[in-house]
Amino acid sequence: MIDFTLTDEQKQLRELARKFAQREIAPLAAELDREQRFSQAIVDRYFETGLLHSHVPEEYGGAGLTSLEGCLVAEELAAACGGVASYLGANNLGLTPFMIAGSPELKEELLTRHCEGPNLAAFCLTEAEAGSDVASMRSTARRVGDENIINGTKQFITNGGVASLYSFFASENLGLGHKGISCFMVPAKTPGISHGKKEDKMGQRAADTREVCFTEVHVPARYRLGKGMDGFKIAMQTLDESRAGVAAAAVGIARAALEAAIAYSKERKQFGQPIAANQAIQFMLADMATKVEAARLLVWQAAHLHDQGLRNSKESAMAKCFAADTAMQVTTDAVQIFGGYGYMKDYPLEKYMRDAKLHQIYEGTNQIQRLVIAGQLLR
Ligand SMILES: Cc1cc2nc3c(=O)[nH]c(=O)nc-3n(C[C@H](O)[C@H](O)[C@H](O)COP(=O)(O)OP(=O)(O)OC[C@H]3O[C@@H](n4cnc5c(N)ncnc54)[C@H](O)[C@@H]3O)c2cc1C
Repeated sequence: MIDFTLTDEQKQLRELARKFAQREIAPLAAELDREQRFSQAIVDRYFETGLLHSHVPEEYGGAGLTSLEGCLVAEELAAACGGVASYLGANNLGLTPFMIAGSPELKEELLTRHCEGPNLAAFCLTEAEAGSDVASMRSTARRVGDENIINGTKQFITNGGVASLYSFFASENLGLGHKGISCFMVPAKTPGISHGKKEDKMGQRAADTREVCFTEVHVPARYRLGKGMDGFKIAMQTLDESRAGVAAAAVGIARAALEAAIAYSKERKQFGQPIAANQAIQFMLADMATKVEAARLLVWQAAHLHDQGLRNSKESAMAKCFAADTAMQVTTDAVQIFGGYGYMKDYPLEKYMRDAKLHQIYEGTNQIQRLVIAGQLLR
């Protein structure tokens, strides 16, 4: 018997996230988007709810949420603002390599300190010439005594200029391709770290996205995760874990657009009746709602598998791909239902559409997700 009922605790968690998102984020969403402004105040207040370091085990100061619980929260945050949800979620993304491969001693030293305050982490994988093809990265780490010296520039990094801790991927042996990559946890105050300009983005504009440049950055050897040269595996495992959350955020944006479209279609009158009286509009709403629910079920499946300790590469890729495509389609249809008003910045519809688009691109484009799914099918 499959039971989709949430426990009372999970319902309370979702309610907490919803209240926070609607009270603290939604009223600021349009302004942050217009001004392309990152709000540390939201991070500070979110920290007070105890949810900021949601995926970190309680012993290190986090909330210790399961993947499914994290998805419930991500949907609520993104329903209020895709950009804010993205930067709060990127903290967990940046910390996930640590959870996967950090030694207990290093977690005690760096993770516990990070979780003591309203701090953000960033996940530094992408480079100008290494996007989908991560293995072609040019960042290097060379061992000198009991330190690694890292050089390289990462591109499009969420929280790039505001993070206090980076998970940074660099090659210890460029000739070995993906087998030479290692992952390092690096405090942002380490000398030699600088940032590029804040990217001027189409959507999710509240998030601080920039280049992160490492020039002769000296990192203690113990800050390297795992056994070394296993960074590619750590990155892929991180993305398998995080994709359900990104997919959940896409569901949140789609749900917000659907709810707005339902309300508007009942209010807006043309030809003497609400536009919702037209079957053409009803069928659009029915298809939008079906896709949102289907996407949510894929998200919950991917998260549930992870929580059972089972591999979920295919399912998390399916969830991310389907939820992102759903968000794009549902937000586009919602703009259509609003007609000309949907195209205006006075309403949140065009923002939903711009915010949704990014979900088809980051954490592996939807083409790459299809490659992952097909790869699993054809094994
Ligand atoms: C706003 C934003 C925030 C981001 N945040 C982060 C972050 O925090 N950390 C981080 O490390 N990265 C981040 N990224 C980077 C993101 O993950 C990459 O942009 C993404 O992986 C795609 O890489 P690319 O942009 O180089 O595109 P490319 O890899 O150059 O792809 C271009 C196009 O070609 C397609 N393509 C490429 N290879 C194939 C193939 N084999 N088969 C079929 N199609 C293919 C792609 O799907 C895409 O449509 C962010 C990006 C953006 C835009």
